[in-house]
Order: sequence, then C-alpha cells, then structure tokens
Amino acid sequence: MAKVDIFTSGHCSSLEVMARRRDGWRVTRFPASFGLIRPARGGIILFDTGYSRHVRRAMNHLPFILYARLLPITLGEDAAVTLEGIGIKPQDVDTIIISHFHPDHIGGLHDFPKARFICSKAAWDWVRRRSGFSGLRRGFLADLVPDDFESRASFADDLNTCENSFFPNTRLLEVGGETLRLIPLPGHVPGQLGLDVKTETGQSVLFAADAVWRCKSLDDGMLPHPLAMRVHHDRKGYADSLARLSSWAAAHPGSRVVPTHDPGT
Ligand SMILES: [Zn+2]
Repeated sequence: MAKVDIFTSGHCSSLEVMARRRDGWRVTRFPASFGLIRPARGGIILFDTGYSRHVRRAMNHLPFILYARLLPITLGEDAAVTLEGIGIKPQDVDTIIISHFHPDHIGGLHDFPKARFICSKAAWDWVRRRSGFSGLRRGFLADLVPDDFESRASFADDLNTCENSFFPNTRLLEVGGETLRLIPLPGHVPGQLGLDVKTETGQSVLFAADAVWRCKSLDDGMLPHPLAMRVHHDRKGYADSLARLSSWAAAHPGSRVVPTHDPGT
C-alpha cells in the first residue's frame, strides 16, 4: 500500500462549458495538480509535475506567447518547492510518471535531476523533435524537456501487462514493493497514461490526467463543449476512455478517480 498526496501547482482559466457542454459560460479555474506516491518500502514517485516557473519562461517568446494568451496561467508553488516543504529534496524523487507532454503536466521536469521518466512511446513519439509552431500545434514546449530526457526515459509499453477488464493493455510497474498500474487513456493525445495506485486505506486512487476534466462527468458522461472537443486528438477515443473511467468508478465505489484539472482535486 502506498501513501498518496495530491498538490496543485497553479491553474489556468477558461469557460466552464469547455469542461462540460451544458455547464455555464462563466470563467472558471482549471487547476494543474500532480500526485506524490510513497510506497511503504521506499521510493518517491510523482505523477506529472504540474506547472512551474519554467513554463512562464518558455512562454515568454513566440510562438508560445499565443498559448499563454489563449489559456491565461496563474502559477502557484512549483512542485519542487512544495515537496521541499514536506521534507522531500528534488534529488530524492526517483520516478516521474508522465501522463502526456502538455506544459501543465511536464512543467517541473527540469527540477528533478535524478528522476527516471516513464511515459508511453506513443505520447513521446507524438511530440519529440517538435519545436516552434509545430510543437505549439500539439501543445508542446520542447524547452520543458531536459536535454538528457531520452537517456532517463523508459516506456510503459515495455512493461508486463495484466488482466484488466476496464482498461486493456494496463502495464505493471513495480516500485518499493508496490505494484502500480499504468492505465492507457488515449483520446486527449495519443498514448496518454493514467495511474492506479492502491492506497493505505485499501482503496485505489486512479489518476486520470486529461481523460476527464470534471468528476461530475464520470456520473453523467457529459462531454466537453464541441469547441473543446476539438483540442482532443481523437474524439471517439476520448469518449471511449471517459466511458471506461465511468464504468471503473461505478464498480469501485470506495475508490477515487482524480482528474488533473478538477477544482475538487
Ligand atoms: Zn493535456
């Protein structure tokens, strides 16, 4: 069993209707959260890193100024600072699981020099070697990825699979005596990964990244506004991943799905 904590690194602002098509046109916050997972027998694992000051710097020049105009960002505390506040030094973080390569998920990679990175091959292939406008079109700021990324990265695709009737091709990651489940949640981008962790209470926390933006949508299946659906790489895949998460949540009533951007997170 692992100890799981969830923190927020800041937020961007957009319209409620973007997250759920029949919600209002009020401007609301989309926090950028990240997860800290501490297995009982050691190891410090992050699920994403949220924003950081590196994001602001990367967005200070063209073409990424356009991104900042479209989605105004308010930075909070960097993940590295938050962790130091609870006694975890940046070099103590040994594993970062990257759901996908949007800036609100990889903003802090530079701050954890000893961490290995785990992501899907499809998610990395979707963005690697894309800079400037080519990167911007995919919401990718290459400056946020450390130069030695590829030598520190391994792919979930190379891990063993397990039976999972909700999410085919779930991969198993063994760390500190725990078995973590890497959950394929494609649609938002190719190869997006979620993470299912058994916590100290015996229940699971399933980090769902951007496969669902509001917990309410797990209950009623409501999709984002059609305009927001256009940001998803594969809309049918997005709807399929959301339906799978809803089924999982219904079958695990004591467990919790954690979307990165739900204010309740
Ligand atoms: Zn995203």
